[in-house]
Amino acid sequence: MTALCDTRPELYFSEDAADIEAAKDGCLDCPLSRYNACQAEGWRQEFGVFGGLSANDRQARDPEAYAALVKANEEAAKRTDRGIIAARELAVMDDGKASPDPKARVLSLLAEGKTPTEVARITGMKPGTVRQWAFRARSC
Ligand code: SF4
Repeated sequence: MTALCDTRPELYFSEDAADIEAAKDGCLDCPLSRYNACQAEGWRQEFGVFGGLSANDRQARDPEAYAALVKANEEAAKRTDRGIIAARELAVMDDGKASPDPKARVLSLLAEGKTPTEVARITGMKPGTVRQWAFRARSC
């Protein structure tokens, strides 16, 4: 059994209304019995469809909780030690290697508490790609 979020993860972090509806439908038909667990996970995520709820749905259902999540993400991003990131980047460049693995860099920044939007801005990656990798790395 495979969930649609595993086979078509791009739908779950798309900004296209039709994709988002397809993702929600995928949750309704999910064969993994994770609907409730995924909804709970969604309340820890600023972006994406989880358990049939999009970010806009979560925001509409509980604006205060969603705003608190956004604020917490912003504060976590501010707390991140930018010096560590810069040092890593310099180490890679000094190493003489062509370029850092972009996916590893994105996952590292996410693990440090950056939001997908922040990571996209820092790395120059497309926000959708960052969200897709974040989604792949998550466990719900
Ligand atoms: S997000 Fe959760 S409920 Fe939705 S398809 Fe994926 S595993 Fe199933």
